[in-house]
Amino acid sequence: MRRIAAQYLFTGKPPLLRHGMVTLDDAHRVIAVGQWDGTETAHTEFYNGVLAPGFVNAHCHLELSHLKGVIAPQAGMAGFLDAVMRQPAGTAAAGVLQLADEQMRKEGIVAVGDVCNTPASFGVKRESDIYYHSFIEVAGLSEQVTETRKAAAAGLLNDAEVAGLTATVTPHAPYSMNEALFAFAVDAAQRQHILSIHNQESDAENALFLQGEGALQTLFASMGFTTPHPTGLTSVHRILPLLRESTRLLLVHNTVTSEADYEAVQAATRNVSWVLCPNSNRYITGMLPPAGLFFSKGAQVAIGADSLASNTQLSVLEELKTLARHFPQIPLETLLQWATYGGAQALRKERELGLLEAGKQPGLVLIENLDLHRLKLTPDATARTII
Ligand SMILES: [Zn+2]
Repeated sequence: MRRIAAQYLFTGKPPLLRHGMVTLDDAHRVIAVGQWDGTETAHTEFYNGVLAPGFVNAHCHLELSHLKGVIAPQAGMAGFLDAVMRQPAGTAAAGVLQLADEQMRKEGIVAVGDVCNTPASFGVKRESDIYYHSFIEVAGLSEQVTETRKAAAAGLLNDAEVAGLTATVTPHAPYSMNEALFAFAVDAAQRQHILSIHNQESDAENALFLQGEGALQTLFASMGFTTPHPTGLTSVHRILPLLRESTRLLLVHNTVTSEADYEAVQAATRNVSWVLCPNSNRYITGMLPPAGLFFSKGAQVAIGADSLASNTQLSVLEELKTLARHFPQIPLETLLQWATYGGAQALRKERELGLLEAGKQPGLVLIENLDLHRLKLTPDATARTII
């Protein structure tokens, strides 16, 4: 049994508890959460920081870890996709992926929603202490690839399951799929009650649907692809009529999501997690997601570090620090909720993860070197795994 206390304890939901303490059994299951009374110091570990349930990285592409520093920043969405597609065939060495996995674990991440187009990450994930949900991604605009992409997804899903991983098929994005593939991937995701899709990552994506033009339209036309017909509506509207309330929907990025888009989604389903990846957005487009909008709406938000192709590290804390710097109105406890309970909700793991509550095994992360007087994340703040 361990009794662990800190200047502040965050249970996964506000408020922060000053001098809070958590008691865990030998299997790291929470027995109790309460107040440290300052006695029994011999049997209590005390930390000068904020203790929280383990972080959840709700959106990642571990298999792209070998592309760190390869794609120039600020290329725009079309430039980024073009650069990724031009990378030589072949996958990352297992050692590169293992290092990325270990760094996530060291920084307090206990669960990851991980997008896969290849089996490259399966071996590392099977051996990892981190819980991974693998999203087997389907994309394709050309009618000619429809059947081969369906078969590839089925094969990859099978490989993941054989490796002992939790995995589901999911669509890539509203703009990158023909009708048949989009319907196939959305249906497959809904049957597993979890659907993760890149959403409104750039203005070019909306322009494709609103006017049938823009940088993505130009890129796809240059490759000979037929793009989705312009609808006069923003890209997120492509998926709304297909949604079922029983499916947990992860909308990832939302960089150019407006209040009207937000309301349209919420009217279509309440079972939605808005996954924000601010450092990746800054890397690709130089923009930030409208985190203030999601905060003011009380939205269910989760945090993603995306991939090392578009980020310098896979760190949930670094994403929170960026949000704290640009959205000072969002309190620390809200940011921490997004990184913990919000992420567990996104991956449908809230019964086990994301909360310090009796019976759960959420892990424990310690955030240090923050401003404990004003309860603000500073550029110097660090995170490390306690459990
Ligand atoms: Zn992504």
